[in-house]
Amino acid sequence: MKYESTRGKAPLLEFSDVLLAGLASDGGLYVPTEFPKLTPADLKSFRQMSYSEIATRVLTPLVSPSIDSDDLGNMVEESYATFRHHEVVPVRPLTAESNDNLFLVELFWGPTFSFKDVALQLLGRLFEYELSRRDTNVTIVGATSGDTGSAAIEACRDRDGINLIMLHPRGRVSEVQRQQMTTVASANIHNVAIDGTFDDCQDLVKALFADTKFRDTHRLGAVNSINWARVAAQTVYYFTTASKLVGPNDPVSFCVPTGNFGNIFAGYIAGQMGLPLDRLVIASNHNDILTRAYLSGIMEIREVQPSTSPAMDIQVSSNFERLLFELGGKDSAWLSEAMLQFRSEGVLALPANILERLRISFEAGAATNQQVAETIGELHATQQEFLDPHTAVGVNVARHLGSHNSPMAVMATAHPAKFEAAVADATGMIPSKPEEIAALAGKPERCTHLAVDINAVKEFVSLVSR
Ligand SMILES: *Cc1c(COP(=O)(O)O)cnc(C)c1O
Repeated sequence: MKYESTRGKAPLLEFSDVLLAGLASDGGLYVPTEFPKLTPADLKSFRQMSYSEIATRVLTPLVSPSIDSDDLGNMVEESYATFRHHEVVPVRPLTAESNDNLFLVELFWGPTFSFKDVALQLLGRLFEYELSRRDTNVTIVGATSGDTGSAAIEACRDRDGINLIMLHPRGRVSEVQRQQMTTVASANIHNVAIDGTFDDCQDLVKALFADTKFRDTHRLGAVNSINWARVAAQTVYYFTTASKLVGPNDPVSFCVPTGNFGNIFAGYIAGQMGLPLDRLVIASNHNDILTRAYLSGIMEIREVQPSTSPAMDIQVSSNFERLLFELGGKDSAWLSEAMLQFRSEGVLALPANILERLRISFEAGAATNQQVAETIGELHATQQEFLDPHTAVGVNVARHLGSHNSPMAVMATAHPAKFEAAVADATGMIPSKPEEIAALAGKPERCTHLAVDINAVKEFVSLVSR
């Protein structure tokens, strides 16, 4: 299996090089040159298999020849043993008494109670494995608006060869999110609170990577959502969900609350690998660039407006580039131009052939804060069900699509206790906290405060990476 860049000017690489590179050298994103195919017999066999067994089967061709199936299997086994549910990603009916055919795919039973754990638990182990094989080390630097930071920290803590520096905007992440990051006592974990916004944090990280001399000297690495290994790990739960809901030849529909387009793109890949899909639905909050692009054919950046589902407060969905590459027949020359134009002008008209294919493979819808709150309130009133606001975006959009001929599986991306304030506002009740979250209060916190100052950040990175 080889990987190619969406911009067409970077070398073809194997999985483990793609893992460590993150972004391709031409600024593009890596995708497989062809998709491995699973047969109906494979899909049938999944009904008797555990999550980890299915993950190993689905991922083996994607990581080959870099990593053999036994080593992969061990890492997969360890990754998903950290989950608090024996099924790892359980699926249950949402509306028990009606025939809506709606299901929730609970992706939040990992160490930090968000879906980021599904990919990052495996990514941390893959990094450690590959770094030790190459006898080298890395300083991972990232920026977070909340969920990614804690999931990356849990994935990398105490791993050989890895230092992790995580920047977050000071005072702008939730109490639980901050505590999940700053109470981790491992020596290789370094939290930095920046006196600025999330965009300031992200710009600082970008500036570090743009300085190639600094990047090479300090062996900087990234685990952000454009890393192909994260997308690959996320394809697995589309297969496990289908195996629980339907026979091997029957299609399932998925509705996915979307930010950086990583989760839903993994669903598209699962389809390319042979999973029968009926409807694949992009669910946005009021930062609805993808839904607008879907409806109008014009992808236009607007200012990000904070919502109750902050992990989806995004205007440039980085993984969408991968989809444009696939839908555009792998025309990297066109895509390179188009992405440059989009970045500089903030608008891109999708060519007719791409728009047509987008509308064949996907549907799209958006939910306002008000609609999200109503959905959370209604589900609680009628079914004593607490939904987190991201999941509620998905449920709201799925219900607006009308009747479902196939089971409609909505991705539940966070535990409601992680977004307590929004859930309490919508229901008048406080969702009960898992023990691990309750136990965070009062624990000692470790964090360095820095200004929005690239030199101060560089100095800090130099100290840590030494
Ligand atoms: C990251 C995240 C999302 C968005 O996922 P993408 O892969 O970026 O589309 C949705 N919900 C929650 C809770 C998240 O943490």
